[in-house]
Amino acid sequence: MATLPTSRVCVWDASTLMEPHCKRRKTEEPKDACPWQVVPVLSERELQSVTLMPVYAAPVLDKKQASRLVKEVSALYPLGDYPHLKRVRSCGSVNSSHPLEIILCLAGGKDKQSLQTALELFPDHQLDLSGLGEPFLTQVPVNPPLTRLQYEEAASHWPVTFHENKRISQALSGCLFTAAEKTSMQSHMELAIQAAQNGARQGMKPVGAVVVDPTTGRVLAVGHDCRNGVNPLLHAAMVCIDLVACGQGGGAYDYQDYPSCTFLPLADSSNQTSSCADGLPYICTGYDMYLTREPCTMCAMALVHSRIERVFYGAPSPHGALATNYHIHSCKDLNHHYVVYRGILEDQCRNLSQISVLK
Ligand SMILES: [Zn+2]
Repeated sequence: MATLPTSRVCVWDASTLMEPHCKRRKTEEPKDACPWQVVPVLSERELQSVTLMPVYAAPVLDKKQASRLVKEVSALYPLGDYPHLKRVRSCGSVNSSHPLEIILCLAGGKDKQSLQTALELFPDHQLDLSGLGEPFLTQVPVNPPLTRLQYEEAASHWPVTFHENKRISQALSGCLFTAAEKTSMQSHMELAIQAAQNGARQGMKPVGAVVVDPTTGRVLAVGHDCRNGVNPLLHAAMVCIDLVACGQGGGAYDYQDYPSCTFLPLADSSNQTSSCADGLPYICTGYDMYLTREPCTMCAMALVHSRIERVFYGAPSPHGALATNYHIHSCKDLNHHYVVYRGILEDQCRNLSQISVLK
């Protein structure tokens, strides 16, 4: 276990650190105080376009029969696996001879897709067909829409219900974070950039990371990539997770040679929720990580294991696992998901890769 001498343990206070910066920025750049954009990294499910499946529908010729038909058809062919599908659509605005159309049943079966009559679909007088027109095949969305974009696409095929995720909608329209929050994000990313530059001066890859407790705004750890040292696995995110562990009295590595890798000791961050002391074993529960560039698969998985809450990164990476190659943060089969935003100080973070590594 590595314990740093107290003189080298940094105690930052995000609020005092930020103030002079944002005041200066305001006077220097009155028009565009924030030249970067924070963009949500959606899951594959949120990004995919709408998948369709065939169903039999039929016109309702007599509106008076509509509620009876809905009731009887729903009893015979419930759409239990597809609760987002509305059974009936209105044809009022379309140039249509009938007022409504109703989904009769799925047409997924092997030999079911040759056009059938209402009598074939409802043999043995299961259904009183009065008021119902001849069935036709149509396509409806398989999955409930998760974003407004998916909703609009889905609804163009057949009416669906949509439980809007406010966070995603606000994030996509760029109004999820307040100016104060963006200022704080910027100051944390600036710390990560600084760490990356300090690491590069020591011959490391210019990648930096910062872990913040968002409930207090306190920086718990600052680290940079150390893979060019003794351990090739010490990517910035791995280092930063380990530094948080150091702050909790754990940690696996020794940062003697890397003075820019620092942490806030447990005693100074008593508000934290995931300390070993209160019995929660996960190192980063509830915390945010700022990374100058998109983490690789190993680091993205380490962030799953340590139960990070949110990740903010600056620039994408060709080996990235949080958008570029994978969406590890939202992998359906993993037992922890985290929220990812990219684009914070993107230009500065991108420029870090231009720093030539010494040695
Ligand atoms: Zn990595």
